[in-house]
Amino acid sequence: MEVTLSTPRFCKVSLPLPIKGVFDYAIPEGMDPKPGCRVMVPFGRRAALGVVTELAPSSEFAKVKSLTSQLDAEPLISKTMLEFTHWIAEYYLCGWGEVLPLALPPLVKGKRLKPWKDGEGLTPTKAPPKLTEAQKKAVKAIKEGLETAKPAAFLLHGVTGSGKTEVYLHALEAALDLGGGAIVLVPEIALTPQTLERFEGRFPGMVAVLHSGLTATERLRSFEALRSGRAKVALGARSALFAPVKDLKLIVVDEESEPSYKQESVPRYHARDAALVRAKMENAVTLLGSATPSFESFYNARSGKLTLLHLPGRVGQAGMPQFEFVDLNALGAKNVQDDALSPALVKALNEAKQAGEQSLIFLNRRGFAPVMCCAKCGQSIQCPNCSISLTFHKDMEGGSLRCHLCGHSRRPPTLCADEKCGSKNLKLLGTGTQRLEEELRRVMPGVRALRVDRDSVGGSASAEFHRELGAQVHAGSLDVLLGTQMLAKGLDFPNLTLVGVVNADASLAFPDFRAEERTYQLLVQVAGRCGRADKPGRVLVQTRQDDHPCLRAAAKQDFEAFYEARIGERKDLGYPPFGRMAALILRSEDKAKAMQAASDLAVLLEKEAQKSSPRRVQILGPAPSPLIQVKTWWRYRILVKAADSKSLHALLDPLVFEHSPKGALLAVDVDPVNFL
Ligand code: ADP
Ligand code: ZN
Ligand code: ZN
Repeated sequence: MEVTLSTPRFCKVSLPLPIKGVFDYAIPEGMDPKPGCRVMVPFGRRAALGVVTELAPSSEFAKVKSLTSQLDAEPLISKTMLEFTHWIAEYYLCGWGEVLPLALPPLVKGKRLKPWKDGEGLTPTKAPPKLTEAQKKAVKAIKEGLETAKPAAFLLHGVTGSGKTEVYLHALEAALDLGGGAIVLVPEIALTPQTLERFEGRFPGMVAVLHSGLTATERLRSFEALRSGRAKVALGARSALFAPVKDLKLIVVDEESEPSYKQESVPRYHARDAALVRAKMENAVTLLGSATPSFESFYNARSGKLTLLHLPGRVGQAGMPQFEFVDLNALGAKNVQDDALSPALVKALNEAKQAGEQSLIFLNRRGFAPVMCCAKCGQSIQCPNCSISLTFHKDMEGGSLRCHLCGHSRRPPTLCADEKCGSKNLKLLGTGTQRLEEELRRVMPGVRALRVDRDSVGGSASAEFHRELGAQVHAGSLDVLLGTQMLAKGLDFPNLTLVGVVNADASLAFPDFRAEERTYQLLVQVAGRCGRADKPGRVLVQTRQDDHPCLRAAAKQDFEAFYEARIGERKDLGYPPFGRMAALILRSEDKAKAMQAASDLAVLLEKEAQKSSPRRVQILGPAPSPLIQVKTWWRYRILVKAADSKSLHALLDPLVFEHSPKGALLAVDVDPVNFL
């Protein structure tokens, strides 16, 4: 190639570091990297893998090192994806190079990839049903959106079982008909074979599935299939948002209010919010769907930022499930201690079984008992690394005590940990799913029950587990499913008619301004598993607060009424969707240092915040996090509340990359979802 004067001799390279900038490198003779190509560079005394973000004719630095090697002839990351990942870094206050790996395929050496199945010979499994009038209206609006140059974003609000997934499928078809591709995001726990089959069955050979259980080779294969355009649809959890889909026309975010869309490690992005940004950059349609929209999204729909599409009723004949409350206060003391299942719930379970129908019991607590404590002095056994009790598991001879935060595990002691007490009388308090299963088998002898939680399902075996579960449910060889929120989403079993909620109060007690919103969502989602076909569904909710407005609203399943009743409080307190927040967590293995670093930073923030007038930012704290110790780290938290994202960033942006707390580490979480 002839070298002309305009040949760029330098490039900017982003490296995976928590810093704001990029680095200049010289391009040696014979290399021709383009923005979006991976390169190896010398960095300090190490070699580092980076991504070229820009070419430059010159560098402002006198001494610039050269690239060591170029890994890709053609860019792996498109121009838009460079722009999108850059936006994530700026908005969530992390390094660009910490975001870029999400958009890259894994490095796989020397393995030959099996070819992508091209769909030949595969035929769609099921003919799509005839759409209802409400579905037709929604699909029509989305189709129109796909055909305009500056497409809108939609919020599809439809009760559970109203046929939202069917609308997604039609929207996908329309996007593919236009020659484009699409991304479908579902919550990780909803990524069941049932979900996959629905999408793959409709678009055989065109769907690339992305989830955490894939091997590097499988991931690379999906990545290549999407990048080349052979696969048209990326289906996966949160991180599938970064899939290299060609001619992206549509992003679907199912169950958009699901907290798992927020990543709890760097980069701490929210996939629903980021989906709207990517779609805008690519001129694609965003379709957010939920039976229980987030207040943020519903607010955006009310203010016109999202176009609201409504599916008011269920497709099936049964109508909405009917709620009944079981007042635990009326049951007396014995029941409180030992029995998680009230007589009313047991009766209902028996009735369903006799009718040949299936039931689901929901308890969001795995293990046998959440607390082991001394019957004499009351001292409970805590994790040595975290500020929570160890959970008793019946998983081996004599059981084990396990920490659900850090994984610490030990044999149960035989004596009280308090030396002065030394009592031998240790007892187990509370009920987890294992204990619930024992109780169920005791009160319903011969019941065919299956427990579904992280312990019974396991990590990578989950697809297999769900396939087996689906087969058993359809064959009618199960009476009761019991388990954690793994059961709350996505399951569509026509013969399931009863849902029992063991303890509705647990999630109401969370120290989080969204506690009620979450409880509402969880109840409505889990209730939505029953009565999906022609038999009516019944929901029994055990609670000590049966007149709580949130539970009452969930019973009516009237989201708008719940939203109207609660949104005013958000506004008064300046919580999202009014205003923006960031959580700054300072952590250290030395408690005093964590505390000191947090109060130093709070003082600094306060000083900066006072400079702007009128004042648009509030600094709250520092305060110990509700989980003050996690994995041996002591954690203190500052909350920053701002009138808008601009003021929030104006305060934090100059600070977070420069500030180095003494003896502690700083984590910044913009738009936090988890307040523990
Ligand atoms: P959602 O996603 O809102 O929970 P689904 O799309 O899963 O609802 O629909 C619930 C059930 O109704 C599914 O079994 C689905 O196959 C079926 N279904 C959806 N739309 C129709 C329709 N128009 N006619 C008949 N059945 C439908
Ligand atoms: Zn004791
Ligand atoms: Zn722990």
